[in-house]
Amino acid sequence: MSRVAAARDDLKETAPITARVRKAVLPAAGFGTRFLPATKAIPKEMMPLVDRPIIQYAVEEAVASGIEQIIIVIATGRSAIEDHFDSNPSLERWLEDRGDIEMLRTIRRISEFGTVAFVHQREQLGLGHAVLMAKDLVGEEPFAVLLSDDVMLNPGGVPVTRQLIDGGAELELGWLPPLLENARNGKIAAGAPGRIVASEGIRLVEIPTSFDRSKGDIHSLGNPHFMIDPLNVKIVARNIATHFAQIDPKSAATYSANLSKFNTRLDTKLAQWQQQLAPYKGAKIVTYHRDFPYLAQRFGLVTLDELEPKPGIAPSPAHLAQVIGKMKANNAKVILVQPFQNRKTAETVARQTGAVVIDAPQQPGAAANASTYFDSMDNLVRAIASGLGAQK
Ligand SMILES: [Zn+2]
Repeated sequence: MSRVAAARDDLKETAPITARVRKAVLPAAGFGTRFLPATKAIPKEMMPLVDRPIIQYAVEEAVASGIEQIIIVIATGRSAIEDHFDSNPSLERWLEDRGDIEMLRTIRRISEFGTVAFVHQREQLGLGHAVLMAKDLVGEEPFAVLLSDDVMLNPGGVPVTRQLIDGGAELELGWLPPLLENARNGKIAAGAPGRIVASEGIRLVEIPTSFDRSKGDIHSLGNPHFMIDPLNVKIVARNIATHFAQIDPKSAATYSANLSKFNTRLDTKLAQWQQQLAPYKGAKIVTYHRDFPYLAQRFGLVTLDELEPKPGIAPSPAHLAQVIGKMKANNAKVILVQPFQNRKTAETVARQTGAVVIDAPQQPGAAANASTYFDSMDNLVRAIASGLGAQK
């Protein structure tokens, strides 16, 4: 989907930048005037491309990108899209009786895309208004907008929406400045006390000496996955506490006390994590994306290679063959994969190298039982230790 945009409702009240994009809004309430009279009774999003209506491509793309809730905005009185994503028991029974199991599966899959919710746009007041109709269902979360009349596919690779979500979290230069400009809120402008740059003072690694975005390298300023080094998190916490105290001086003592409490807990946890990973000093890990160097550096592991040839570029057979050779030569036995990355690719490589694939979500909230940084790191360290331990 082109013109996909990760949007934020109101910068002041949103979740942190690391929040995962779970919801997508698909406006489909237009008159489709360019395609009249074909679109007189049928929404243009229902026009077929090969064997599917075009909106189904958008829904499949969103689901493949890790979107959990699809919100489709339809015009009042046009139920074709709703019917398409609903189950159709009599059709299913008919296919079953005829023994057409293949088609039955195809049909059932459409109604099993996860949560698809519908909201109505009663008046044709434009695209902005259509998106606004989804406000209550989206809440205060970052979300994606997919316009399904532009179909863009990346067969076998990272879905287009997924690429955009990753970019949005890391390359804020692309979206944050225009967003701030539109917000017209001087309190959070660059240089204002309300603007907190969490990474201030962190030493980024892998700062490129030359950078060519045409090669798809999304680590333009250095490796941005610094939060999995607990000592970097201390710097971030200090930045936040310092800025909060400036903005809200009467509570400065509370911020400072909370910061000390956080640091004490972090020191205790860090010692524990270091102890858990100590037996595996020098162990070689392979990751899907180049998102673990800070962890490796802190805990004495070695990142041998990545399944992606470059950050943000989908693995190619030629590159994977190289990685497999390298893993065999170096006896590397674990592959770390985050939930939104392509686990199947990692499993293929693991089969050919005798390695194990470790689920390694980095962000708090990525797993149901890990809503805090401490829980999330606890899980991550435990998973890596047990993966490396199983290979000893
Ligand atoms: Zn990255």
